Amino acid sequence: MYTDARAAAKQALSDQDQGCIKVPDGMTFFQVKKPGTYNFDIIPFFHNPDLNKYAPKGGTVWWETTYCRHGNVGPEDKMLVCLKKTFGEACYCCEQHALARKSLRPGATDDEKKTVKSMEYKIRQLFCVIDRDERKPELQLFEMSFHLFGKHLLHKIDGAPSRLNYDQFFRLKGGMTLSVKFVEGANWIEAGNIELIPRDKDIPEDILDDVPCLDDLIIRTPYAKMKQIYDGAEDQKHETNGETYSRRSKREEPEEEEEATPRKKREEPEEEPPARKPKKEETEERDNPAARKGIEKGCYVLYTDEDGKKLRCQVVRVSPDGTSLTLEDESGEVHRAIEPKECKLGITVEEPEEAQTKPARKPKKAAEEEAPAKPKAPEPDPDEDEGWSRRKKR
Ligand SMILES: [Zn+2]
Repeated sequence: MYTDARAAAKQALSDQDQGCIKVPDGMTFFQVKKPGTYNFDIIPFFHNPDLNKYAPKGGTVWWETTYCRHGNVGPEDKMLVCLKKTFGEACYCCEQHALARKSLRPGATDDEKKTVKSMEYKIRQLFCVIDRDERKPELQLFEMSFHLFGKHLLHKIDGAPSRLNYDQFFRLKGGMTLSVKFVEGANWIEAGNIELIPRDKDIPEDILDDVPCLDDLIIRTPYAKMKQIYDGAEDQKHETNGETYSRRSKREEPEEEEEATPRKKREEPEEEPPARKPKKEETEERDNPAARKGIEKGCYVLYTDEDGKKLRCQVVRVSPDGTSLTLEDESGEVHRAIEPKECKLGITVEEPEEAQTKPARKPKKAAEEEAPAKPKAPEPDPDEDEGWSRRKKR
């Protein structure tokens, strides 16, 4: 029966939306499962200007939404949208990744490095498409790694003479069908060649009524909930040189590309003091102020002292009721009876390093009022992934 088949298909696709995408009723995913040429239209949607990072200002429709996600989160290997890169909020997964990375010693095995790297967020994109190879085409969601598809599309658009109007490919009127040859990459299927073919027939404007706002489909899992999901993995703690960090499942992530070290790559100098994984001894003490803020013994906080000086400190002791902390700053000075509210968590781990190494996220191109602006690459960092470059040049 039609509905059953649909439901079954949706069920089978649950791996694609687990934890990250709200799938509107009746919608399925367009899938690229094996190498081959796929013909499809990317359908624009009324975007949410508060959420969509790359839609030009002043426009109302756009063709993609970019988000970042963490894979293999917690014992259930969930995928969660990265709160930091997607919503600009504190992200527990990013914090844990940073902690784990800092805990890595120069002598760490490849396996250990890989595990830590797998904790990093990956850049993903969501589209609404119509599969032109289908006899009965319908609107579908298409979700893929930015590096394996979207980036290629942007290169295609950027590299073409402007008279070809490739940047208008997503227009309903005068738009283009994508003919994408997906090839077997080093590890994943990725776009090998993309052709943009002017459509014979325009798509009726009223299709916009049926296309969901993709920005609104990205699931924002609150920090506390994310922490809960992540910390289910506590049984997999891993010892490294006396330091403990929560180790994630070592399982490979088959659907994750080795793409994204979007901001930083390869070995980073280990100049900063290694951060220690917060120990979780009192999980049920959710009511105490320290626990509520996620402050635990061993973690780093930013503490502003009486003189207003900001000190990066490690928490060396938390009182049992969580109301009083003992901190040790970088010069070794100990600060006692500090209230959790005077401390900011997680800030020291990422910020100094980012200031130095992270290229500013490229701002979206200034809006070109009427015409849809040329889409820009979400994370322009072309050399970030050697594997990628190699494969591309092949
Ligand atoms: Zn994150």
